[in-house]
Amino acid sequence: MKKNIKDIELSGKAVVLRCDFNVPLDENNVITDDTRISSALPTIRYLIEHKAKVILLSHLGRPKGGFDSRYSLQPVANRLSELLQQPIRFAASERVVDDSVRRTAAELAPGQVMLLENVRFRQEETDNDPAFAAELAALGDIYVNDAFGTAHRAHASTEGIARLLPAVSGFLLGKEIAALGQALEKPEHPLLAILGGSKVSDKISVIENLLKKVDILLIGGAMAYTFIKAQGGQIGDSKVEADRLEEALKLLNLARQNQTPLYLPVDVKAAQAFANDAPAAVYAADAIPTGWMGLDIGPQTIELFKEKITQARTVIWNGPLGVFEMPNFAAGTLAIAQALAESEAKTVIGGGDSAAAVTQFGLADKIWHISTGGGASLEFLEGKTLPGIAALEDK
Ligand code: ADP
Ligand code: MG
Repeated sequence: MKKNIKDIELSGKAVVLRCDFNVPLDENNVITDDTRISSALPTIRYLIEHKAKVILLSHLGRPKGGFDSRYSLQPVANRLSELLQQPIRFAASERVVDDSVRRTAAELAPGQVMLLENVRFRQEETDNDPAFAAELAALGDIYVNDAFGTAHRAHASTEGIARLLPAVSGFLLGKEIAALGQALEKPEHPLLAILGGSKVSDKISVIENLLKKVDILLIGGAMAYTFIKAQGGQIGDSKVEADRLEEALKLLNLARQNQTPLYLPVDVKAAQAFANDAPAAVYAADAIPTGWMGLDIGPQTIELFKEKITQARTVIWNGPLGVFEMPNFAAGTLAIAQALAESEAKTVIGGGDSAAAVTQFGLADKIWHISTGGGASLEFLEGKTLPGIAALEDK
């Protein structure tokens, strides 16, 4: 277990808090979705209430290692100030840290909040440069990481700084570690995993790791066709990774050796083009004619997968079952999302597109845990050590 902000004395301390304020902006630099800011509020409020001086860090987008006004955190400072209903001191330094920023930090009173500029305005951030980490660390007494979405990257503001100060997790990061950790390491059995999405190659390590842990594995989405073709099925013009057929067979063998039941789609909804209004028909998953591509799981597969979900006590889902962005091929993903929403099992969703799908269906609040970190949640499911988490203190 990692220490969190409830485990330490905060009063009068300067706390450097790494948030994930990587919000979407439109062409006029207006925030189009402030979920990432509002979800950081519990940690920030807790620090304020416990009389800490709060120094906020975040990245935004991918500036090319220098100042770029399109990636300034100024809009975040404004929105955060509105949401917190208190002024935020925005340290508008193009260098992120300079003498004036140091002065502002030193003058903070307990309960006051300041936000630094986008840490990626310094190339040293992604290089995890020790000198830049030291500049950030010198601003405070304690480091708190609440940015799960970048915890899989060893950067100066996520890993380097945590080596230099007492380092603990905030509420968001703590919740991610607890939920993903429980589902993967201490699940109530049966543990079922559902994998989908676009590519097998993205998820080979996820499948390998999950096969060691799960009781049942269901595979849908585009990646299923690589498995079906590897077994000699006719997949028509469905998406396939021809250079991964052998790897797919190895994974199927691994499942057999482990005696882990692995289910692939038995039928699919296929179309004559990659378009919502293309002519569509249902085919057996291993008998898709040339000229047709599978874009969703079919009705029999939906029933099969739903039945398996009802047997599970813990479900981990990553990857849409079909092209859910097109309404005519969203039925499989929607049915699985609904089955999870109705399930009494502990349900965990990882992956950017899967989380977006469940949110789009309006079912997000019926899921036990939706991970906020796309890449980070995948690395967690791969069983990798996330450097931003590893650097925090143990209880
Ligand atoms: P996540 O972000 O949840 O990890 P991925 O990025 O792996 O998921 O995959 C999401 C994408 O996979 C979606 O854009 C979806 O349209 C696509 N997809 C799912 N099934 C198919 C399919 N049968 N054919 C083509 N694309 C598919
Ligand atoms: Mg994705």
